[in-house]
Amino acid sequence: MNISDLPVAVIGAGPVGLAAAAELLERGLTPLIFEAGPTPAAAVASWGHIRLFSPWQYDVDPAARRLLTAAGWQEPDADTLPTGAELQEGYLQPLAALPAIAGALHTSTRVVAVSRDGLDKTRTGGREGTPFLIRTEDVRGTAAEYRARAVIDASGTWNTPNPLGQAGLPAPGEAEALAAGLITGPLPDVLGRDRARFAGKHVLVVGAGHSAANTLLALTELAEQEPGTRISWAIRSASAAGVYGGGDLDGLPARGALGSRLRNLVQEGRIELHTSFTITGFTTDGTLAVAGKTPAGEKLLEVDLLVPATGFRPDLGMLREIRLDLDPAVEAPRELGPLIDPEFHSCGTVAPHGATMLSHPEQDFYIVGMKSYGRAPTFLMATGYEQVRSIAAALAGDREAADDVQLVLPETGVCSTDLGGSCDAPAGGGAAEASCCGTEPVEPEPASSSCCSAPEPEPASSSCCSAPEPQFLGIPTGLAHGRSAARGN
Ligand SMILES: Cc1cc2nc3c(=O)[nH]c(=O)nc-3n(C[C@H](O)[C@H](O)[C@H](O)COP(=O)(O)OP(=O)(O)OC[C@H]3O[C@@H](n4cnc5c(N)ncnc54)[C@H](O)[C@@H]3O)c2cc1C
Repeated sequence: MNISDLPVAVIGAGPVGLAAAAELLERGLTPLIFEAGPTPAAAVASWGHIRLFSPWQYDVDPAARRLLTAAGWQEPDADTLPTGAELQEGYLQPLAALPAIAGALHTSTRVVAVSRDGLDKTRTGGREGTPFLIRTEDVRGTAAEYRARAVIDASGTWNTPNPLGQAGLPAPGEAEALAAGLITGPLPDVLGRDRARFAGKHVLVVGAGHSAANTLLALTELAEQEPGTRISWAIRSASAAGVYGGGDLDGLPARGALGSRLRNLVQEGRIELHTSFTITGFTTDGTLAVAGKTPAGEKLLEVDLLVPATGFRPDLGMLREIRLDLDPAVEAPRELGPLIDPEFHSCGTVAPHGATMLSHPEQDFYIVGMKSYGRAPTFLMATGYEQVRSIAAALAGDREAADDVQLVLPETGVCSTDLGGSCDAPAGGGAAEASCCGTEPVEPEPASSSCCSAPEPEPASSSCCSAPEPQFLGIPTGLAHGRSAARGN
């Protein structure tokens, strides 16, 4: 079989993987889509209770819109902010159900390895004309292999949260605590689906970004209704000022109010805050003992459950046999890394980029979507849609269209909306569900760089957690100029 007759493999059926499928179909190419979860967009389903900060107009891929519209789809109101569940039900599920996509989609099928058929990474001769080999596993552990002419890895980062230990490493006992179910997934639905798990428990939230803040506020609401619920909060930095923001002095009243609320809850003793707390180990024995190093010496916190809010990183293991070229710090494609490095960039705006910037030494292999940002927390769906439009054009041989990259994001690129969907201003949803910043920061070390944490009062244009404001998109790290600025260098 000629390699060009093979399909293009798409790993992950999240918003960007499904958009890739739509863009490929429009170009006359055949997608072959693998989704680890039981349904399309399984990761979005996990945070379905969170309200997006991007209104519908930025959440729908243009090629997907055309396919859906042709099938009679009614597009949701452009200015409304959907929850993750609404995004899934109102857009991603109908898209995945289109016959051309449904027929190409393998759910409950995890890609475990990607390589070139018959060639390991060290073999150069004939590499570019050799099909990719994609090895998968289903839920029963049954393996299968597929061949493809190109691979688009849109598998996100949701399943690989950062470890809780110091230095980017899991702390001793962390794996056992996870296996025992004493460390939850990120952003649990404390007031909804996961309520029973949290009611009446002592819960420790770890992290200094807005996911932590939202989980803490939701837990406080739960504690009011469910006696015995106790809340602790551990951060690595010496102060939670970064999460509190500027209070009354904050340029953004709603952010100030959110921060003030959290500060009051801490001051009232309803949340026990442990600052300068570096986790050194876990002991699991029905409950969870969390050992931490603090300036005052070792401390032990005995809790029932721990909620991690420390950011995400890409899973590169399955790409071991692929010739990648990644930024050594951010783990994004090398040229993209410096443009989104949270050390230097505080927001989600990025130069338009597509196939060229996302290419690797491995021809016709691309990492897109959330995973293309590596460890940077500022990815936006609209950015991913342009990535896959360009890649589909490149794979179809339309270099001109591939290089004509355009990203329609407002220039300011900060993430607040004028729709009341920021952290503290419910837009048809409660504050606890209205997270402006699901993509969590890499927890700072010291805690200074957090997506949507706001260490200093900033100009009104650079926050994601604002009162109704002119509309912006993007996810700031909460720092005027990224992490470096916070350190004064
Ligand atoms: C709480 C939250 C709120 C957000 N709000 C916004 C917002 O308002 N606006 C915005 O623009 N962005 C937002 N983002 C950021 C980002 O746009 C979303 O995370 C978006 O879902 C990323 O899409 P994706 O397709 O790249 O990855 P994902 O949505 O993570 O999809 C990846 C898919 O790949 C699957 N998968 C993973 N590994 C494998 C494997 N090995 N084999 C097969 N399948 C696999 C997963 O199950 C998943 O379904 C938010 C993120 C979060 C977490």
